[in-house]
Amino acid sequence: VQTSKSQETLLEQDEKYLWHSMKPYNPKATIVATKADGSWVTDADGNRYLDAMAGLFCVNVGHGRTELAEAAYEQLKEMAYFPLSQSHVPAIKLAEKLNEMLGDEYVIFFSNSGSEANETAFKIVRQYHQQKGEHSRYKIVSRYRAYHGNSMGALAATGQAQRKYKYEPLAPGFIHVSPPDSYRDDCNVADPKELSSVKEIDRTMTWELSETIAAMIMEPIITGGGVLVPPEGYLQAVKEVCEKHGALLIVDEVICGFGRTGKPFGFMNYGVKPDIITMAKGITSAYLPLSATAVRKEIYEAFKGSEEYDFFRHVNTFGGSPAACALALKNLEIMETEKLFDRSHDLGAQTLNDLTNLLQDHPYVGDVRGKGLLIGIELVKDKKTKEPLDNKLVTQVIANCKQKGLIIGRNGTTVAGFNNVLILSPPLNIEQEDLDFIVQTLTDSLNKIL
Ligand code: PMP
Repeated sequence: VQTSKSQETLLEQDEKYLWHSMKPYNPKATIVATKADGSWVTDADGNRYLDAMAGLFCVNVGHGRTELAEAAYEQLKEMAYFPLSQSHVPAIKLAEKLNEMLGDEYVIFFSNSGSEANETAFKIVRQYHQQKGEHSRYKIVSRYRAYHGNSMGALAATGQAQRKYKYEPLAPGFIHVSPPDSYRDDCNVADPKELSSVKEIDRTMTWELSETIAAMIMEPIITGGGVLVPPEGYLQAVKEVCEKHGALLIVDEVICGFGRTGKPFGFMNYGVKPDIITMAKGITSAYLPLSATAVRKEIYEAFKGSEEYDFFRHVNTFGGSPAACALALKNLEIMETEKLFDRSHDLGAQTLNDLTNLLQDHPYVGDVRGKGLLIGIELVKDKKTKEPLDNKLVTQVIANCKQKGLIIGRNGTTVAGFNNVLILSPPLNIEQEDLDFIVQTLTDSLNKIL
């Protein structure tokens, strides 16, 4: 393959050969990255950008970790592949490690992506109820604004209409409810059971008939949909509602997991015990594809003793490949040695504080919120009406940041107009001076649109 080093030539080739997610939507904003180290990415012209999104919420231990490359290389030399219809040592060790981190007994099914981890969870919950003789339970409740993946089931669970309507009909049996929005809704209640978003779940499960509900899926904090941090007690209240209706609770930790919110897993901020936990991205810090569906032991037990034709009929060729598992183990070791969960917690709290102080008087900044190194800045036209800021201006802020060498994110065009949340999700080992650069550059870029 012949390539030119210059960004312009590469972009011409890109235009000719490559179809990627932001094309042709936003061709001018494309960076052709060639190198990355720590929190920084270099393009084909040698420009450097601070990657305040850690790729797509995933390079948690930062770019350029040669020990991760070595872990994969060593395993590839030893044994490149063996299917998990049998077993191998890296998968066993990683499953054991995840159990230790989850602090409870879970059985792990490996796949390659967050979407697949969620699809696996949906099939498990449906078959679980079948195994127990509850044949009418198939519906899965999920929330508006959440993203759960690109495949027909995971997209059906997704609560962002604009990602879905052109591809319908998607998998049937998915029902949506509202998430709590502490900025826009009144979440000041004495008892979290009284939150309108919790009552809505209870009512939905009642009216749909409890005995048709298989599970609820939720992220601990809605991430890509706008960094919606739930009010105190919300997750416990949701879990209680699920239990009342006999529904399992699947927690999607694809982004929140592995330290993003200042704990090993996002649900650990809220004192709930999920029935199933799905994870991807940070499990390998994106150095190789890998995802996992962790299932509470009791649920797995219901599959035991079944006739051969009743086994969990779900195969994944590449899921849990030896090299990906070996690399994941090294990745988790780095997170522990470098205390990245605590670091995310502490640096996140400090950055949230700095941003709040600097931006609270900015006329377009309605809300600054987050947990750990996951931070959202909601932009509004008017702080009283909370009308979202025009798309053009939000795009301008992102372009201003890029111009100054900073890559930030934003929420998808969730509901009409609600694409007004800027997102920060840097590597968890980011240096303090790089965080200062983010805060300063973002503030300057926001001031420039005044
Ligand atoms: N769940 C959540 C919360 C996600 O953010 C994503 C991807 N951004 C997915 C699932 C799907 O993961 P993948 O792109 O690896 O399929």
